[in-house]
Amino acid sequence: MKVLITGAGQDSSLSTFLHMKKGDDVYVLTRRRADGLTDQMRKVVEILDVSPKFVYADLTEYEKVFNIVQELKPDVVYHYGAMSFVPYSYENPIYTNEVNQLSAYAILEAVRKHSPKTKVFLPASSEVFGKPVEYPQKLSTPLAPVSPYAISKVALLYIAEYYRKVWKLDVYDFITYNHESELRGEEFVTMKIVKNLVERGHVVLGNIEARKDWGYAGEYVKIFDTVIEEYEPKRYILCTGVIASVEDFLNYVMQKVGGTYEIDPSLFRPLDAEGMTCDVSEVPIRPKYTWRDVADIMIKYVKDGKPTFPEVLGGI
Ligand code: GDP
Repeated sequence: MKVLITGAGQDSSLSTFLHMKKGDDVYVLTRRRADGLTDQMRKVVEILDVSPKFVYADLTEYEKVFNIVQELKPDVVYHYGAMSFVPYSYENPIYTNEVNQLSAYAILEAVRKHSPKTKVFLPASSEVFGKPVEYPQKLSTPLAPVSPYAISKVALLYIAEYYRKVWKLDVYDFITYNHESELRGEEFVTMKIVKNLVERGHVVLGNIEARKDWGYAGEYVKIFDTVIEEYEPKRYILCTGVIASVEDFLNYVMQKVGGTYEIDPSLFRPLDAEGMTCDVSEVPIRPKYTWRDVADIMIKYVKDGKPTFPEVLGGI
């Protein structure tokens, strides 16, 4: 299988590991960085001991992105590359949508015109439900985005539907709930809590009453892969069905590693959704790892440098 993975963050790196282990011919589309690879991709390459092939473009260089897909004609494109940090999107709505939304057109137009058998994976987000009108959310729950990030992900859902319906392409779009791992960046609350408590014994937080459904990203990329191999192209939803507040996560980590915290109201968001979880009867494959497992995996990595993803993704 020839696999093209966009981006070099958490999901892109975990997916790269999975597909390299499966023996696929893996290309990673990422922008050139002065310092070489992202921390996540560097970790993956270090453990693999062999590198995927890198192809370089910024996701807003649409023509380059188009040309790469046209030339490679991969069997699957995993379009993980995105601006994925919600608070940043409030200040940078145009850039967020240029990266998250328009790059998908570049990929899908190249697929439509030059490689129509290519399967395309587009990750959306539970943020598309905004402050949800029902709990738990379903595929039929109305979309009500309340951030430029969420709006870009709603667009992605419509783009997927358009290419499936009108051009009969094999597009898989996933409304995916929060998924974390030892490769999570520190700007996200889970790694922020773990890293600060383990390394500094103190963490400063915003709204700890926010309630989320945190899965393990290592398991999620594996589920995406299985669905793309074995299921029909359509819209899917993926969560664990187990919800916890930021405070629950914080207390659990404090119990394990100690430390203290304080609240800084400037870290609150204009609008924070609560009670985000989905109806697991609609989930294609039920995840096994829930938020406490995720916390344990992150603590182990930050304390001892021992990653869990190789055993989750490597036993193939
Ligand atoms: P997101 O759900 O993809 O935006 O992931 P985050 O990890 O950034 O945020 C998860 C939740 O934690 C949100 O509801 C935030 O409002 C809440 N939160 C509370 N304190 C913090 C903080 O200090 N940093 C971040 N990133 N989120 C925080």
